[in-house]
Amino acid sequence: MIVHWHRKDLRGVDNRALARAAQADRLVPVFVLDPTILEYASPVRVACLLEALADLRAWYRDRGSDLLVVRGNAREVIPSLAAERDAARVVWNEDYSGLAAERDEAVRAALEEEGIDHESVTDGLHHEPGSISPNEGDHYSVFSYFWKKWRDREKADPAPAPTTDELADLEDASESEANPIPSLSELGFDEPDADPPAVTRDAARERLETFCSDAIYRYADERDVPAAGTTSRLSTHLKWGTIGPREVYVETERALEDAPDEDARESVVAFRRQLAFREFYVHLLAFNPETVTEDFSGYESDLEWRNDPDELAAWRAGETGYPIVDAGMRQLRSEGWVHNRVRMLVASFLTKDLLVDWREGYDWYRHYLADHETSSDVAGWQWAASTGADAQPYFRVFNPTKQGREYDPDAAYIREHVPELEDVPADRIHEWPDLDTEERAELAPDYPEPIVDHANRREEAIATFEDARDEG
Ligand SMILES: Cc1cc2nc3c(=O)[nH]c(=O)nc-3n(C[C@H](O)[C@H](O)[C@H](O)COP(=O)(O)OP(=O)(O)OC[C@H]3O[C@@H](n4cnc5c(N)ncnc54)[C@H](O)[C@@H]3O)c2cc1C
Repeated sequence: MIVHWHRKDLRGVDNRALARAAQADRLVPVFVLDPTILEYASPVRVACLLEALADLRAWYRDRGSDLLVVRGNAREVIPSLAAERDAARVVWNEDYSGLAAERDEAVRAALEEEGIDHESVTDGLHHEPGSISPNEGDHYSVFSYFWKKWRDREKADPAPAPTTDELADLEDASESEANPIPSLSELGFDEPDADPPAVTRDAARERLETFCSDAIYRYADERDVPAAGTTSRLSTHLKWGTIGPREVYVETERALEDAPDEDARESVVAFRRQLAFREFYVHLLAFNPETVTEDFSGYESDLEWRNDPDELAAWRAGETGYPIVDAGMRQLRSEGWVHNRVRMLVASFLTKDLLVDWREGYDWYRHYLADHETSSDVAGWQWAASTGADAQPYFRVFNPTKQGREYDPDAAYIREHVPELEDVPADRIHEWPDLDTEERAELAPDYPEPIVDHANRREEAIATFEDARDEG
């Protein structure tokens, strides 16, 4: 018997550790609700997790088995469950984020003390950290080099799902193992503000197939337009593992074969490039775990963040008086997801216009994003703050008004998330920070005045970064 420890791989299909173990012996699948990990979770993410767990348990039950869901510290639960069941081995898929790596080391040590074998494999990525690297060094810090190698490297096929015969019959599961999956409140979490789309296998497959048969061909042209809805919205599924990376890649191969013309083919490749970005950031974090809290590439002296609490509060509430920024911040609260162009914009606004430390923004995102991945989230923030690897240069500060005009010309996205502006014409919305107070009061009395002047703040931000560069 082999225990498969599910973590961020909440699926039976295209699951590498599960498939390998199933070929060797009967499988006992388990998930541990570990309080030391839940401490860092948030209502929206725990809600997603519980939904995905219920779905996975149903998948196993349909196949005459079960998913054991145990509450407790994984360092104790995994070795004792394996010992009780006389398991020959415990297997899992690697998780390269800092907290997980520490936990896994402790579980490995505890298993070794019990004399139980263990094995972990790479599953959530096509290529494990260290396998795409320059001649000297273990990882790239510049994406374009990483991308060239990632793009050309062969990709594995999806891993087969275990058959019914390969799964253990778990009628003997103890009461604590086969308990109903706890509710949010039983785990001590409030109901989330957001109501994200379902985090289940069916939802993931449907999204993937729909995207790859249509929108993928427009992705290159429209991916920066938030109202177009052209991006895949697979991030939450990739985060929880309700979809496997190899499954996604295979669909892009089909899309390439069916592409009507060269533009459509290039668009598929543009989508793959974003998949590679996700892996680039996992590699970066795996080799630079301290960058969860520290700047990736610091300046000569510390950046003098302004960190004004009222400005930070206005940003969090989506009440900065910059319509596209506010739309993004409100989308975050209502959907647990934000369009990528808008993530970049709101992050730039916080770290440049407001000169608030990127760690504040990261913490807020971490709490509200259903798709929060430490690697992409930290990298996204550090990119915007010009402290990251291959980051936005500090002197390129997004102009939120211009960005709104360019990427949301009809203000459809803004109006969807900022109801106070529902009846305001698009050109007025885009001019909002430059209108006079009376005009604003007449057009949308409930929508805030701009809290800062972008042009001034841009100058101040550049000066602050230059000071940090020159001093020391
Ligand atoms: C400040 C900031 C924070 C971010 N935080 C996260 C996060 O916590 N989790 C997360 O998955 N992404 C994060 N991103 C990256 C990106 O915004 C999201 O992956 C993307 O918006 C998800 O939507 P989608 O699935 O429709 O993407 P698509 O455009 O359809 O892309 C497909 C997949 O590629 C990956 N991807 C796309 N863009 C990026 C990118 N810029 N960086 C890394 N991976 C990418 C994602 O896995 C995504 O699901 C962040 C970006 C910024 C600027």
